[in-house]
Amino acid sequence: MESIASNIGAIREQINSACIEAGRDPAGVRLIAVSKTKNAALVREAFDAGQIEFGESYVQEFLDKYDDPLLEQCPIEWHFIGHLQSNKVRSIIGKVSLIHGIDKLSTAEELSKRALQHNLHLDYLLEVNTSGEASKYGISPDDLLSEAPSLFHLPNITLRGLMTIASYNRVAAREEFRQLRTLLESLRTIAPDPSRLTELSMGMSGDFEEAIQEGATMIRVGSAIFGWR
Ligand SMILES: *Cc1c(COP(=O)(O)O)cnc(C)c1O
Repeated sequence: MESIASNIGAIREQINSACIEAGRDPAGVRLIAVSKTKNAALVREAFDAGQIEFGESYVQEFLDKYDDPLLEQCPIEWHFIGHLQSNKVRSIIGKVSLIHGIDKLSTAEELSKRALQHNLHLDYLLEVNTSGEASKYGISPDDLLSEAPSLFHLPNITLRGLMTIASYNRVAAREEFRQLRTLLESLRTIAPDPSRLTELSMGMSGDFEEAIQEGATMIRVGSAIFGWR
C-alpha cells in the first residue's frame, strides 16, 4: 500500500496539473483531507506530511479526534463537512474553521444564535443538491436564490460560499460543478457583501480534477489519501 505521505504528494501534483490546464493558480485550491473513520494516528501521519486542513463528517468522531493527545500539538484547521443537525451545533462551535454542510435556514439560524451566545464568529457554506438525487442533502438550486437573502443579515456568521456532492458519473458531476459555480455568481449579485462570498467546496477523490476545471476553491479528498473506508 502507498503511504499517506506519497498519496498526498501525488494528489498535490494532480492539483497542480489540473490548475495549469485550467489556467488557474494552484494557491487558489485548498486540499481538505477527509479523515472520517480514520483514527488520530493516521491524521497525525498526514499532518506530519504537511497536511493542515482536515474534514470530518460525524460530530462525536470529530470531538474524539479533536481531543486526542496525538493531535494536541498540531495546529490543524478542522472543517466540518457532514450533515449538521441544529442540536449538534453547540458541541462543535469554536473548534472548526468552516462548516460546509448547512442545508436549512433553521440550522443557519441556530448557528447564528450559538455564535452570538459564545461571542464567536463562524464561517459556513450552504450545501446545494445539484444532482437532484433524493438520497443527498442540500437546498435545491431552485430554492437557493430565494432562500439565501434571509441569511445575509444573521449576526456572528458569514456565508462564504456553496458546497455540493456531485453525481458518481464524472460527466454529470462536471455539469453539476458548473451549475454550482453559476449559482455562486448569481448569489454574489444579490449579496450585500460579495467580497466574502468566494468559496466553492466541490470535488472528491473521484472527481476533483473536474471540480478544479469548474472553479473549485476547496476539494475534499478522503480515500485517495487514506485508502478505502
Ligand atoms: C466522505 C466525503 C468526502 C470524501 O470522499 P472520497 O470519495 O473518499 O474522497 C468528501 N466530501 C464529503 C461531504 C464526504 O462525506
